[in-house]
Amino acid sequence: MIHVLAVLEKNSNTATELCNMTSSKIISKVYPGMPTSDGAGVKLTRMLGTPELEILDPFLMLDRMDSDDPDAYIAGFPNHPHRGFETVTIMHSGQMRHEDSVGNSGLITPGDVQWMTAARGIVHEEFHSREFAKTGGTFEMCQLWVNLPKDKKMVKPRYQGIVSKDIPKIPLIISDTCHVEGPQQQAADPSEGYVRVIAGEFNGAVGPANTHSPVNLWDIAINTPQKAFDFRITEGHNTVIFIRRGAVEILGQNLKFQDVAIMSYEGEKVTITAKDKDTQVLILSGQPLNEPIAARGPFVMNTQKELQEAMMDFQMG
Ligand code: MN
Repeated sequence: MIHVLAVLEKNSNTATELCNMTSSKIISKVYPGMPTSDGAGVKLTRMLGTPELEILDPFLMLDRMDSDDPDAYIAGFPNHPHRGFETVTIMHSGQMRHEDSVGNSGLITPGDVQWMTAARGIVHEEFHSREFAKTGGTFEMCQLWVNLPKDKKMVKPRYQGIVSKDIPKIPLIISDTCHVEGPQQQAADPSEGYVRVIAGEFNGAVGPANTHSPVNLWDIAINTPQKAFDFRITEGHNTVIFIRRGAVEILGQNLKFQDVAIMSYEGEKVTITAKDKDTQVLILSGQPLNEPIAARGPFVMNTQKELQEAMMDFQMG
């Protein structure tokens, strides 16, 4: 009964409520990232959208690029269309420049997130910036594709350019400290790590991204290895834990660099212990849309007819 009440409460992730959690999510399956290339020959690792793991509703794709060799990224992503979903670009190092066919353009710099709702259609290009080409260095970014609900697929396109300083940076929560702090779990020292709340909510902090369906997107750094931290993730969401850097242990299972763990719908608590001192993790969770998908490349619609229309519209300009 306590468990049911916790679920009925609003999806808030406060330290007090972490104490009331009765069940842990379990790992459904772990997949290694798949090295591939896309665009005009950009080398990347694909975690979601692979033959093994095609889609995790509402998430369609998750890629990571990380290289200090210009040959790996210089080709970029020349003009290409998107319809029916959102692309979320999370910049960790280097600079990305985007420009669309109706004159929108901008620079995405480290720590920034671009949440682009392609919806009824955007044709754009994505390249490392000219400034970055001059200085060189490490180019690291993730791109996530989030599906749109049926009634939002043909809305007006929208950009949310979210700058690093507008993303709340929240201390981690030390695992199982209810007995120490009474009804509250204990926040870790900020030097031990943090959660950047891009979308959704963590420990009462709400992320700046507006989403079309309930989504949590947390960019996490864990600087203290061998210490367990707790995360409360909405029951019923599809949940992906992606090891961006370092390695972790969850429920006795070791996850290495660029693994993705798919977690159970059931349960809320996930306890993560870093195995390396510079460990970085992305957690994404989303309420499944449970709608039919007709997808081909950069078009993700609900029916074959809509898909054909998308391709026709693109060819006609
Ligand atoms: Mn694109």
